[in-house]
Amino acid sequence: MPAAIPSLQLLRNARLYAPDPRGVVDVLIAGERIAAVGRDLESPPKSWGCTVHELDGALVLPGLVDAHVHLSGGGGESGPETRVPPLQFTQLTMAGVTSVVGLLGTDGTTRHPAELLAATRAMQRLGLSAWMWTGAYPVPTPTLTGSVRGDIVTVEQVIGAGEIAISDHRSSQPTFDELARLAAECHVGGLLAGKAGVLHLHLGDGRRGLELVRRILLETEIPARVLQPTHCNRNASLWVEAMELGGRGLPVDITAFPPDDDDEALPAAVAVAQWLDAGTPTDRLTLSSDGGGCLPVWDRDGQMVRMDVGSSHTLLQTLGVLYAAGRPLEAILPLCTRNVARQLRLRGKGEVAVGADADLLVVDDALTVRALWARGRQLVTDGAALVRGPFESGGAA
Ligand SMILES: [Zn+2]
Repeated sequence: MPAAIPSLQLLRNARLYAPDPRGVVDVLIAGERIAAVGRDLESPPKSWGCTVHELDGALVLPGLVDAHVHLSGGGGESGPETRVPPLQFTQLTMAGVTSVVGLLGTDGTTRHPAELLAATRAMQRLGLSAWMWTGAYPVPTPTLTGSVRGDIVTVEQVIGAGEIAISDHRSSQPTFDELARLAAECHVGGLLAGKAGVLHLHLGDGRRGLELVRRILLETEIPARVLQPTHCNRNASLWVEAMELGGRGLPVDITAFPPDDDDEALPAAVAVAQWLDAGTPTDRLTLSSDGGGCLPVWDRDGQMVRMDVGSSHTLLQTLGVLYAAGRPLEAILPLCTRNVARQLRLRGKGEVAVGADADLLVVDDALTVRALWARGRQLVTDGAALVRGPFESGGAA
Protein backbone atom coordinates (compact mmCIF):
# COMPACT_ATOMS: atom_id res chain seq x y z
CA MET A 1 0.00 0.00 0.00
CA PRO A 2 1.21 3.55 -0.69
CA ALA A 3 2.24 5.80 2.16
CA ALA A 4 -0.39 7.82 4.01
CA ILE A 5 -1.51 11.05 2.39
CA PRO A 6 -0.01 14.24 3.86
CA SER A 7 -2.93 16.26 5.22
CA LEU A 8 -2.03 19.47 3.36
CA GLN A 9 0.06 20.01 0.23
CA LEU A 10 0.54 23.31 -1.60
CA LEU A 11 1.57 23.26 -5.27
CA ARG A 12 3.10 26.67 -6.01
CA ASN A 13 3.18 28.28 -9.46
CA ALA A 14 1.37 25.70 -11.54
CA ARG A 15 0.56 26.63 -15.16
CA LEU A 16 -2.86 25.09 -14.85
CA TYR A 17 -5.15 23.71 -17.54
CA ALA A 18 -8.16 22.54 -15.56
CA PRO A 19 -8.72 21.60 -18.52
CA ASP A 20 -9.61 25.24 -19.26
CA PRO A 21 -6.59 27.57 -18.97
CA ARG A 22 -6.29 29.16 -15.53
CA GLY A 23 -2.90 30.87 -15.83
CA VAL A 24 -0.20 30.43 -13.18
CA VAL A 25 -1.88 29.56 -9.89
CA ASP A 26 -1.34 27.71 -6.63
CA VAL A 27 -3.29 24.53 -5.82
CA LEU A 28 -3.97 23.52 -2.22
CA ILE A 29 -4.63 19.80 -1.61
CA ALA A 30 -6.34 18.76 1.63
CA GLY A 31 -6.26 14.99 2.07
CA GLU A 32 -7.66 13.43 -1.13
CA ARG A 33 -9.35 16.59 -2.46
CA ILE A 34 -8.53 19.99 -3.90
CA ALA A 35 -9.28 22.65 -1.27
CA ALA A 36 -8.31 25.86 -3.10
CA VAL A 37 -7.08 27.10 -6.48
CA GLY A 38 -5.89 30.67 -6.95
CA ARG A 39 -3.05 33.12 -7.34
CA ASP A 40 -0.65 33.58 -4.40
CA LEU A 41 -2.62 31.46 -1.93
CA GLU A 42 -1.70 32.14 1.68
CA SER A 43 0.42 29.41 3.27
CA PRO A 44 -1.40 27.49 6.00
CA PRO A 45 0.01 28.00 9.53
CA LYS A 46 3.30 26.07 10.06
CA SER A 47 1.74 24.01 12.84
CA TRP A 48 -0.65 22.47 10.27
CA GLY A 49 2.26 20.68 8.61
CA CYS A 50 1.77 21.70 4.98
CA THR A 51 4.17 20.23 2.37
CA VAL A 52 5.07 22.80 -0.31
CA HIS A 53 5.99 21.75 -3.89
CA GLU A 54 7.49 24.55 -6.05
CA LEU A 55 6.49 23.90 -9.68
CA ASP A 56 8.16 26.98 -11.26
CA GLY A 57 5.48 27.40 -13.91
CA ALA A 58 5.34 23.74 -15.00
CA LEU A 59 2.22 22.57 -16.87
CA VAL A 60 -0.37 21.00 -14.56
CA LEU A 61 -3.29 19.03 -16.02
CA PRO A 62 -6.07 16.89 -14.58
CA GLY A 63 -4.94 13.26 -14.20
CA LEU A 64 -6.00 11.34 -17.33
CA VAL A 65 -9.08 9.11 -17.39
CA ASP A 66 -8.51 6.00 -19.55
CA ALA A 67 -11.81 4.17 -20.05
CA HIS A 68 -10.54 1.19 -22.06
CA VAL A 69 -7.75 -0.76 -20.39
CA HIS A 70 -7.28 -4.54 -20.21
CA LEU A 71 -6.18 -4.47 -16.56
CA SER A 72 -6.08 -8.26 -16.25
CA GLY A 73 -4.47 -8.59 -19.72
CA GLY A 74 -6.03 -9.04 -23.16
CA GLY A 75 -5.00 -11.11 -26.14
CA GLY A 76 -4.88 -14.87 -26.51
CA GLU A 77 -6.01 -14.61 -30.13
CA SER A 78 -3.12 -16.66 -31.47
CA GLY A 79 -3.19 -19.36 -28.81
CA PRO A 80 -2.83 -19.40 -25.04
CA GLU A 81 0.82 -18.36 -25.13
CA THR A 82 -0.31 -14.99 -26.55
CA ARG A 83 -2.46 -14.06 -23.53
CA VAL A 84 -1.15 -10.68 -22.40
CA PRO A 85 -0.10 -10.59 -18.72
CA PRO A 86 -1.87 -8.24 -16.28
CA LEU A 87 -0.94 -4.57 -16.43
CA GLN A 88 1.55 -3.29 -13.88
CA PHE A 89 0.59 -0.29 -11.76
CA THR A 90 3.33 1.99 -13.12
CA GLN A 91 2.24 1.30 -16.72
CA LEU A 92 -0.69 3.56 -15.81
CA THR A 93 0.92 6.08 -13.46
CA MET A 94 3.93 6.71 -15.72
CA ALA A 95 1.45 7.38 -18.53
CA GLY A 96 -0.31 10.07 -16.48
CA VAL A 97 -3.44 8.02 -15.82
CA THR A 98 -5.18 8.49 -12.44
CA SER A 99 -8.59 6.97 -13.32
CA VAL A 100 -9.04 3.76 -15.25
CA VAL A 101 -11.89 1.56 -16.44
CA GLY A 102 -10.89 -2.08 -16.94
CA LEU A 103 -12.45 -4.57 -19.35
CA LEU A 104 -12.26 -7.99 -20.98
CA GLY A 105 -12.05 -8.53 -24.75
CA THR A 106 -12.11 -11.51 -27.12
CA ASP A 107 -11.46 -14.08 -24.41
CA GLY A 108 -14.57 -14.32 -22.26
CA THR A 109 -13.86 -18.03 -21.73
CA THR A 110 -10.57 -18.37 -19.85
CA ARG A 111 -10.91 -14.84 -18.46
CA HIS A 112 -13.78 -13.87 -16.19
CA PRO A 113 -15.19 -10.61 -14.76
CA ALA A 114 -14.25 -11.83 -11.26
CA GLU A 115 -10.57 -11.78 -12.25
CA LEU A 116 -11.05 -8.30 -13.74
CA LEU A 117 -12.78 -7.15 -10.54
CA ALA A 118 -9.72 -8.30 -8.55
CA ALA A 119 -7.39 -6.40 -10.94
CA THR A 120 -9.62 -3.31 -10.63
CA ARG A 121 -9.58 -3.49 -6.84
CA ALA A 122 -5.79 -3.91 -6.91
CA MET A 123 -5.46 -0.59 -8.76
CA GLN A 124 -7.78 1.06 -6.22
CA ARG A 125 -5.77 -0.28 -3.27
CA LEU A 126 -2.49 0.92 -4.81
CA GLY A 127 -3.91 4.45 -5.09
CA LEU A 128 -5.69 4.93 -8.43
CA SER A 129 -9.41 5.36 -9.03
CA ALA A 130 -10.71 2.34 -10.92
CA TRP A 131 -13.95 0.98 -12.35
CA MET A 132 -14.80 -1.81 -14.78
CA TRP A 133 -17.06 -2.81 -17.64
CA THR A 134 -18.69 -6.18 -17.01
CA GLY A 135 -18.87 -8.74 -19.83
CA ALA A 136 -16.52 -9.38 -22.76
CA TYR A 137 -16.86 -9.63 -26.59
CA PRO A 138 -19.59 -12.30 -26.74
CA VAL A 139 -23.36 -12.06 -26.26
CA PRO A 140 -24.65 -13.56 -23.96
CA THR A 141 -21.79 -12.02 -22.08
CA PRO A 142 -20.07 -13.28 -18.89
CA THR A 143 -21.17 -11.52 -15.70
CA LEU A 144 -20.58 -11.63 -11.94
CA THR A 145 -24.19 -11.95 -10.78
CA GLY A 146 -25.97 -13.61 -13.72
CA SER A 147 -26.96 -10.41 -15.52
CA VAL A 148 -25.42 -7.16 -16.72
CA ARG A 149 -28.14 -5.24 -14.92
CA GLY A 150 -27.45 -7.14 -11.70
CA ASP A 151 -23.71 -6.39 -11.94
CA ILE A 152 -24.31 -2.65 -12.46
CA VAL A 153 -26.80 -2.42 -9.60
CA THR A 154 -24.93 -4.52 -7.03
CA VAL A 155 -21.19 -4.20 -7.75
CA GLU A 156 -19.74 -0.78 -6.94
CA GLN A 157 -16.99 -0.87 -9.59
CA VAL A 158 -19.26 -1.85 -12.54
CA ILE A 159 -20.47 1.17 -14.57
CA GLY A 160 -21.76 -0.65 -17.67
CA ALA A 161 -21.02 -3.51 -20.07
CA GLY A 162 -18.13 -3.85 -22.49
CA GLU A 163 -16.38 -4.38 -24.64
CA ILE A 164 -19.20 -6.09 -26.53
CA ALA A 165 -17.99 -6.80 -30.08
CA ILE A 166 -19.93 -5.93 -33.23
CA SER A 167 -18.97 -5.86 -36.91
CA ASP A 168 -15.98 -8.10 -36.18
CA HIS A 169 -15.06 -11.70 -37.09
CA ARG A 170 -14.22 -12.24 -33.41
CA SER A 171 -17.71 -11.18 -32.24
CA SER A 172 -20.53 -13.63 -31.43
CA GLN A 173 -22.47 -12.03 -34.32
CA PRO A 174 -25.09 -10.53 -31.98
CA THR A 175 -28.49 -9.76 -33.53
CA PHE A 176 -30.25 -6.42 -33.28
CA ASP A 177 -32.61 -7.76 -30.59
CA GLU A 178 -29.73 -9.13 -28.50
CA LEU A 179 -27.82 -5.88 -28.66
CA ALA A 180 -30.87 -3.70 -27.96
CA ARG A 181 -31.67 -5.83 -24.91
CA LEU A 182 -28.11 -5.45 -23.65
CA ALA A 183 -28.31 -1.67 -24.09
CA ALA A 184 -31.57 -1.71 -22.11
CA GLU A 185 -29.91 -3.71 -19.31
CA CYS A 186 -27.18 -1.06 -19.12
CA HIS A 187 -29.63 1.83 -19.22
CA VAL A 188 -32.03 0.52 -16.56
CA GLY A 189 -29.19 -0.82 -14.39
CA GLY A 190 -27.62 2.64 -14.54
CA LEU A 191 -30.90 4.29 -13.50
CA LEU A 192 -31.35 1.95 -10.53
CA ALA A 193 -27.75 2.32 -9.36
CA GLY A 194 -27.30 6.05 -10.03
CA LYS A 195 -24.48 5.28 -12.49
CA ALA A 196 -23.81 6.00 -16.15
CA GLY A 197 -25.02 2.56 -17.31
CA VAL A 198 -23.20 2.62 -20.65
CA LEU A 199 -22.86 -0.08 -23.32
CA HIS A 200 -19.22 0.17 -24.45
CA LEU A 201 -19.03 -1.36 -27.94
CA HIS A 202 -15.94 -2.76 -29.64
CA LEU A 203 -16.19 -1.96 -33.36
CA GLY A 204 -14.41 -4.27 -35.76
CA ASP A 205 -13.46 -3.78 -39.40
CA GLY A 206 -16.67 -5.36 -40.74
CA ARG A 207 -18.67 -3.64 -43.46
CA ARG A 208 -21.75 -3.38 -41.22
CA GLY A 209 -19.93 -0.70 -39.21
CA LEU A 210 -22.34 1.13 -36.90
CA GLU A 211 -25.50 -0.29 -38.50
CA LEU A 212 -26.77 -1.93 -35.28
CA VAL A 213 -26.06 1.23 -33.28
CA ARG A 214 -27.95 3.32 -35.84
CA ARG A 215 -30.93 0.96 -35.59
CA ILE A 216 -30.99 1.12 -31.77
CA LEU A 217 -31.09 4.93 -32.02
CA LEU A 218 -33.92 4.80 -34.59
CA GLU A 219 -36.03 1.90 -33.37
CA THR A 220 -35.82 1.96 -29.55
CA GLU A 221 -36.33 4.49 -26.76
CA ILE A 222 -32.77 4.04 -25.45
CA PRO A 223 -30.99 7.43 -25.18
CA ALA A 224 -27.94 7.95 -27.40
CA ARG A 225 -25.73 8.61 -24.37
CA VAL A 226 -26.06 4.93 -23.32
CA LEU A 227 -24.13 3.74 -26.40
CA GLN A 228 -20.40 4.31 -26.64
CA PRO A 229 -18.74 2.77 -29.71
CA THR A 230 -14.96 2.58 -29.50
CA HIS A 231 -12.13 2.01 -32.05
CA CYS A 232 -14.18 4.34 -34.31
CA ASN A 233 -10.99 5.45 -36.10
CA ARG A 234 -10.00 1.90 -37.09
CA ASN A 235 -10.79 2.53 -40.77
CA ALA A 236 -11.85 5.46 -42.92
CA SER A 237 -15.42 4.38 -43.66
CA LEU A 238 -16.20 3.63 -40.00
CA TRP A 239 -14.79 7.04 -39.08
CA VAL A 240 -17.04 8.83 -41.59
CA GLU A 241 -20.04 7.03 -40.10
CA ALA A 242 -18.95 7.85 -36.51
CA MET A 243 -18.48 11.54 -37.36
CA GLU A 244 -21.97 11.66 -38.83
CA LEU A 245 -23.65 9.95 -35.85
CA GLY A 246 -21.46 11.96 -33.45
CA GLY A 247 -22.91 15.12 -34.98
CA ARG A 248 -26.32 13.79 -33.94
CA GLY A 249 -25.32 13.26 -30.30
CA LEU A 250 -23.84 9.74 -30.24
CA PRO A 251 -20.82 9.46 -27.91
CA VAL A 252 -17.76 8.46 -29.97
CA ASP A 253 -14.56 6.98 -28.56
CA ILE A 254 -11.28 7.09 -30.50
CA THR A 255 -8.51 4.59 -29.80
CA ALA A 256 -4.97 5.93 -29.54
CA PHE A 257 -3.54 3.04 -31.59
CA PRO A 258 0.26 2.97 -31.71
CA PRO A 259 1.57 4.45 -34.97
CA ASP A 260 1.75 1.81 -37.70
CA ASP A 261 2.39 2.57 -41.36
CA ASP A 262 0.79 -0.64 -42.74
CA ASP A 263 -2.43 -0.24 -40.87
CA GLU A 264 -5.59 1.24 -42.32
CA ALA A 265 -6.49 2.83 -38.98
CA LEU A 266 -6.53 6.62 -38.86
CA PRO A 267 -3.99 7.85 -36.31
CA ALA A 268 -5.95 9.18 -33.33
CA ALA A 269 -4.45 12.65 -33.79
CA VAL A 270 -5.70 12.77 -37.40
CA ALA A 271 -9.19 11.68 -36.35
CA VAL A 272 -9.33 14.28 -33.55
CA ALA A 273 -8.12 17.02 -35.91
CA GLN A 274 -10.78 16.09 -38.50
CA TRP A 275 -13.49 16.19 -35.84
CA LEU A 276 -12.37 19.58 -34.52
CA ASP A 277 -12.06 21.04 -38.02
CA ALA A 278 -15.55 19.80 -38.95
CA GLY A 279 -16.92 21.93 -36.11
CA THR A 280 -18.76 18.93 -34.60
CA PRO A 281 -19.52 19.46 -30.86
CA THR A 282 -16.67 17.88 -28.93
CA ASP A 283 -18.27 17.23 -25.53
CA ARG A 284 -19.09 13.59 -26.37
CA LEU A 285 -15.78 12.82 -28.07
CA THR A 286 -13.37 10.74 -25.98
CA LEU A 287 -9.97 9.10 -26.38
CA SER A 288 -8.88 5.81 -24.79
CA SER A 289 -5.78 3.65 -25.11
CA ASP A 290 -6.65 -0.08 -25.31
CA GLY A 291 -3.80 -0.47 -22.80
CA GLY A 292 -2.90 -4.09 -22.06
CA GLY A 293 -4.92 -5.27 -25.05
CA CYS A 294 -3.44 -7.07 -27.98
CA LEU A 295 -3.52 -5.18 -31.23
CA PRO A 296 -3.38 -7.97 -33.79
CA VAL A 297 -2.73 -7.43 -37.48
CA TRP A 298 -4.75 -9.92 -39.60
CA ASP A 299 -4.40 -11.19 -43.14
CA ARG A 300 -7.41 -11.73 -45.45
CA ASP A 301 -8.04 -15.23 -44.10
CA GLY A 302 -8.38 -14.03 -40.52
CA GLN A 303 -4.89 -15.31 -39.63
CA MET A 304 -2.93 -13.13 -37.25
CA VAL A 305 0.37 -12.01 -38.79
CA ARG A 306 1.67 -9.86 -35.93
CA MET A 307 0.64 -8.64 -32.47
CA ASP A 308 1.28 -5.40 -30.61
CA VAL A 309 0.24 -4.62 -27.03
CA GLY A 310 -1.66 -1.40 -26.32
CA SER A 311 -0.33 1.12 -23.82
CA SER A 312 -1.82 4.10 -21.99
CA HIS A 313 1.27 6.08 -23.04
CA THR A 314 -0.40 6.62 -26.42
CA LEU A 315 -2.86 9.06 -24.78
CA LEU A 316 -0.21 11.67 -24.00
CA GLN A 317 1.60 10.84 -27.26
CA THR A 318 -1.60 11.67 -29.18
CA LEU A 319 -2.16 14.88 -27.23
CA GLY A 320 1.52 15.72 -27.78
CA VAL A 321 1.19 15.40 -31.58
CA LEU A 322 -1.87 17.67 -31.58
CA TYR A 323 -0.26 20.18 -29.20
CA ALA A 324 2.94 20.33 -31.29
CA ALA A 325 0.74 20.99 -34.34
CA GLY A 326 -0.65 24.07 -32.61
CA ARG A 327 -3.92 22.78 -31.13
CA PRO A 328 -4.63 24.56 -27.84
CA LEU A 329 -4.50 22.26 -24.80
CA GLU A 330 -7.99 23.30 -23.71
CA ALA A 331 -9.38 21.97 -27.03
CA ILE A 332 -7.79 18.52 -26.79
CA LEU A 333 -7.35 17.76 -23.07
CA PRO A 334 -11.08 17.20 -22.38
CA LEU A 335 -10.98 14.09 -24.62
CA CYS A 336 -9.18 12.13 -21.92
CA THR A 337 -10.25 14.12 -18.86
CA ARG A 338 -13.55 16.03 -18.49
CA ASN A 339 -15.44 14.45 -21.41
CA VAL A 340 -14.79 10.89 -20.19
CA ALA A 341 -15.65 11.75 -16.59
CA ARG A 342 -18.95 13.36 -17.62
CA GLN A 343 -19.91 10.63 -20.08
CA LEU A 344 -19.23 7.91 -17.49
CA ARG A 345 -20.48 10.01 -14.52
CA LEU A 346 -17.25 9.66 -12.56
CA ARG A 347 -17.81 12.37 -9.96
CA GLY A 348 -14.86 14.52 -8.92
CA LYS A 349 -12.83 13.32 -11.93
CA GLY A 350 -11.48 14.95 -15.08
CA GLU A 351 -11.19 18.51 -13.72
CA VAL A 352 -9.00 20.48 -11.37
CA ALA A 353 -11.52 22.35 -9.24
CA VAL A 354 -12.27 23.01 -5.59
CA GLY A 355 -13.94 19.90 -4.15
CA ALA A 356 -12.72 17.61 -6.97
CA ASP A 357 -10.38 14.71 -6.26
CA ALA A 358 -6.71 15.72 -6.13
CA ASP A 359 -5.74 13.93 -9.38
CA LEU A 360 -2.98 16.11 -10.84
CA LEU A 361 -0.51 15.52 -13.64
CA VAL A 362 2.64 17.61 -14.09
CA VAL A 363 4.19 17.46 -17.57
CA ASP A 364 6.96 19.25 -19.46
CA ASP A 365 6.28 21.15 -22.68
CA ALA A 366 6.67 17.92 -24.70
CA LEU A 367 3.87 16.48 -22.49
CA THR A 368 6.24 14.00 -20.82
CA VAL A 369 5.16 12.96 -17.32
CA ARG A 370 7.17 14.65 -14.57
CA ALA A 371 4.96 14.17 -11.49
CA LEU A 372 1.58 12.71 -10.59
CA TRP A 373 -0.84 12.88 -7.67
CA ALA A 374 -3.83 10.54 -7.43
CA ARG A 375 -6.44 11.27 -4.74
CA GLY A 376 -3.79 13.35 -2.96
CA ARG A 377 -1.03 10.71 -2.99
CA GLN A 378 2.07 11.54 -4.96
CA LEU A 379 2.85 8.52 -7.15
CA VAL A 380 5.46 10.00 -9.54
CA THR A 381 8.21 12.55 -8.86
CA ASP A 382 10.99 13.88 -11.13
CA GLY A 383 9.77 11.59 -13.91
CA ALA A 384 10.19 8.42 -11.79
CA ALA A 385 7.69 6.18 -10.01
CA LEU A 386 7.43 6.63 -6.24
CA VAL A 387 4.96 3.75 -5.83
CA ARG A 388 5.14 0.37 -7.56
CA GLY A 389 3.01 -2.75 -7.51
CA PRO A 390 4.34 -5.58 -5.32
CA PHE A 391 5.54 -7.65 -8.32
CA GLU A 392 7.23 -4.83 -10.23
CA SER A 393 10.99 -4.57 -10.39
CA GLY A 394 12.21 -1.86 -8.07
CA GLY A 395 10.51 -3.27 -5.01
CA ALA A 396 7.16 -3.32 -3.30
CA ALA A 397 4.96 -0.30 -2.82
ZN1 LIG B 1 -11.65 -3.73 -28.62
